[in-house]
Amino acid sequence: MASIINTKIAVPLSSVKDGITVFNYRFQEPDLHFGEGQRFPNEIVVNVTVTGMGSDILLSTKVTSEALIVCDRCCSDFKYLINNEVKSLYTYDIEKYKEDTDDEIKYLHGSMQEIDIVPEIIDALSLAIPTKCLCNESCKGLCVICGENLNIKKCDCENNEIDPRWNGLKNIKFED
Ligand SMILES: [Zn+2]
Ligand SMILES: [Zn+2]
Repeated sequence: MASIINTKIAVPLSSVKDGITVFNYRFQEPDLHFGEGQRFPNEIVVNVTVTGMGSDILLSTKVTSEALIVCDRCCSDFKYLINNEVKSLYTYDIEKYKEDTDDEIKYLHGSMQEIDIVPEIIDALSLAIPTKCLCNESCKGLCVICGENLNIKKCDCENNEIDPRWNGLKNIKFED
């Protein structure tokens, strides 16, 4: 699970009018992660484009940051540029979307002062993390015998020329 964003980031509803309003936020959350393999040590920049349309408010939340991600193959951190956008729809009109099965619509009521956009930011950041994390397509990985990072240094172990992606092949027995 994601560690929580401790900074409060919310769009003040009093500033939202019909048409487009843009809100910008910057914050740092070095403890944020969505699993073991990534960190956000750098500033996270959020640009929210808020479009008011009568009782509806459309949010387009764009996040930019430079994450540190652990390479699946060599286990070293590498820098990864995050640049992602999520859209969400809020409405004051519960009746209007009653028949809509899309549960992404979020409801507002008159007493609310602001829209907490932390869930949008978490979505945008976590969806930007690649499922396969490689520092480089040609990453040589770690030596399976001594653990040396083969991108940095060659070791003297046997088999060190074998691409770690083919490790499984070593166990296959060929019959003649
Ligand atoms: Zn790597
Ligand atoms: Zn080795």
